[in-house]
Amino acid sequence: MADNRVALITGAGRGIGAQIALTLAAEHTDIAVVDYSEQAAAQETLDALAAAGVTARYYKCDVSDFSATKATVDQIVKDFGKIDILVNNAGITADKLIMRMEEADWDRVLSINLKGCFNMVKHVTPYMMRKRYGRIVSISSVVGMMGNAGQANYAASKAGIIGLTKTVAKEFGSRNITANAVAPGFIKTAMTDALTEEQKQAMYKLIPLGCLGETKDIANAVKFLVSDDARYITGVVLKVDGGMYI
Ligand code: NAD
Repeated sequence: MADNRVALITGAGRGIGAQIALTLAAEHTDIAVVDYSEQAAAQETLDALAAAGVTARYYKCDVSDFSATKATVDQIVKDFGKIDILVNNAGITADKLIMRMEEADWDRVLSINLKGCFNMVKHVTPYMMRKRYGRIVSISSVVGMMGNAGQANYAASKAGIIGLTKTVAKEFGSRNITANAVAPGFIKTAMTDALTEEQKQAMYKLIPLGCLGETKDIANAVKFLVSDDARYITGVVLKVDGGMYI
């Protein structure tokens, strides 16, 4: 148990983040779940992590808040002794055509999706540098590479994550810290479940593999990027999209 790695995963209360947490827990990784919803919303995930036999703790924190993220990171290091892995997964959408998009829609999405990653990288890397070890994975989106009508704020934030990731890879490589991004396409979540069969069929036509991805497809990509098998991989954007964007 003492040798377990420790992963800080943002937005791990549910969805893709929760699946990443469970997948890393199966690899004997202790998990710090960072999410801004109430702990009750993440209880199912926390129970599943405990059942997997790892130490898991919940930290209520808004990733867009610079000082709150510093306090949270410091507390996690106090509780776990270190942070080996950072997964920047927390993200939101506020979709509107630019014509209708308000300044607040832009600011909120950019501050959670992009500044949230900066905040975490800023506060976690000093600890990683001391240990001369770190694995950082940030969840971008193929939309950050393709653009998407109605998602100017989201697409810009996800493209920004790619620039941030490549810069982190260059600044921290000499300290044995890798930084990579995973860019999901359409993933089966509550959001995509709500689509009509007709909408789904239209979506499948855009995807060479002809189906939606699952949260475990993203989690497995993260598992690989934080593993020793990926020790010489940094600064990459791994698309996990069934070929939607080639
Ligand atoms: P989700 O909404 O189900 O989960 C997001 C989690 O992040 C929630 O638990 C939420 O409480 C938390 N969160 C949101 N804002 C936060 C903040 N400010 N501080 C802390 N926690 C916060 O979303 P998901 O579908 O699981 O997506 C996870 C990530 O994957 C996001 O970054 C999203 O943009 C990205 N992504 C998802 C898809 C998809 O098809 N679902 C596709 C491409 C990229």
